[in-house]
Amino acid sequence: MVRVVGKKITGLAVIPRLPKGFSHPIAIGEGSFSSVYRVRQKSLDRWVAIKVLQERNSERRVKLLNEARNQARMSIASIPAVYDAFARGQRVFIVMEWVKGVSLQAMLDKGIPRSEDRMALAGDLVAALAGLHRLGYAHRDLKPANILISPEAGIYLVDFGFAKKVGEGLQSMVGTVKGTPAYMAPEIWRGGAEVDFIKADLFALGKVLQELDPGPGCGPLIDSLLAQDPTARPESAISLWQAWQAAGFGTADSHWKATAGQVTSELLSKRLLQSAQQLLFAGREEEAYWILVECLQEDPDAAEALTLMSRFPALSRTRTRNRWAGAALAAMVLFAAAMMSAYFFGKRSERRILHPAAESNDHARALLLSRRALGGSSPGIAGIPAKFREFSPRRGTLTGILYLYARPGCDSLDLDGSGVDTMSATAGLTTSFGEHTVVCFDKHGVQLSQERVSLLPFQRKIIRAGRAAAKRGSAT
Ligand code: ADP
Ligand code: MG
Repeated sequence: MVRVVGKKITGLAVIPRLPKGFSHPIAIGEGSFSSVYRVRQKSLDRWVAIKVLQERNSERRVKLLNEARNQARMSIASIPAVYDAFARGQRVFIVMEWVKGVSLQAMLDKGIPRSEDRMALAGDLVAALAGLHRLGYAHRDLKPANILISPEAGIYLVDFGFAKKVGEGLQSMVGTVKGTPAYMAPEIWRGGAEVDFIKADLFALGKVLQELDPGPGCGPLIDSLLAQDPTARPESAISLWQAWQAAGFGTADSHWKATAGQVTSELLSKRLLQSAQQLLFAGREEEAYWILVECLQEDPDAAEALTLMSRFPALSRTRTRNRWAGAALAAMVLFAAAMMSAYFFGKRSERRILHPAAESNDHARALLLSRRALGGSSPGIAGIPAKFREFSPRRGTLTGILYLYARPGCDSLDLDGSGVDTMSATAGLTTSFGEHTVVCFDKHGVQLSQERVSLLPFQRKIIRAGRAAAKRGSAT
């Protein structure tokens, strides 16, 4: 009897319990066995993907760690690098390179209108599988959900839970079939006999290419992949890739990157917003703030993100007021204690928030924000609580303050093409968040310097403009 190894459907955890050293979780994928999050790895200050698998059976946990070991050995560009793998309690964590991209499944769901894009992606996919086969591995669960498209770096293969090195007992246990039914080769279903899983990968590839529909010219090659008899299929993806190139199917077209970039941004900004809401709900405002910043970078007009973001300073003020009222009440009871608590609360009401991506955003090093901007009254976020909906802020309403200091020799300043009064610039200019340009001129109107400045919502930033300002200004 043939039994398909059961796939446990797990929903996305609201906020995952992460191992120490990881923060800022956003859900980026839910597989059949696992949930995948993008998180900040604090020690190395970088974004990574972390795959979390729940497994009660300790022997199976060891097997899951093999998935990571297999993947770690596959050091080619089209496979995410594995950084670490460990078990904690009943959960296994695989820490790996985060691919900023979108699954082929999501792209197919959206539709890929240009046939040139479909052809280019198909070519990259064949090349990626050829790379895996060249390493001597069969994937054994090739399908659109396990193929990632990065607008920057092209195709990635993920999910090596079933992958096996050729020659290491490739045949499945009798009666047990692994894979996803729609992409499984007929010889796997037949069971019993030895299965060449490289050939089975080619069948799955044929199915994926059929869905991708790269164009009529590829028909005969796809048909050969879908042959019922495995011996009638090409030898491996390596020979297929050679045949693909020999047939002159184009791969040079790079328009698909724009399409993939758009879908990536759309999906990512949705996920970022969702995570920010969940983090706020859990009282983790600092993480929520940076996730919202990123959300707005992906989609500057994301209305809900703007609304949530715009509430940070207002709630911070309310909070501070409440604290002082509390301190005053305490003073009526015991003056000395009130003084101490006022001091304590005063200290706590503001703190620095460090940007989690300092390496790429050194301009965004610090920001003063209320410690518990949304604290005690947890917003009842199923979507966004009613009090958040009263505002419909536009982009320009989220501001920061730029303090522009003119260095010696700098006579006048321009901010985004308009002259600014140097005195009021020193006192601080309230400016919308985003990119700005500061230009400095000498008394003859000759340009001395030009600086790109990136301002975050509610950030206060000092820029010293002028000749010596080739270096970046400091932020507060
Ligand atoms: P499962 O074994 O449960 O199917 P996968 O490894 O396929 O889990 O991961 C589930 C989803 O998570 C994938 O479809 C993909 O969208 C996303 N994903 C997995 N690994 C990464 C990664 N390294 N970077 C970005 N997204 C990933
Ligand atoms: Mg998967």
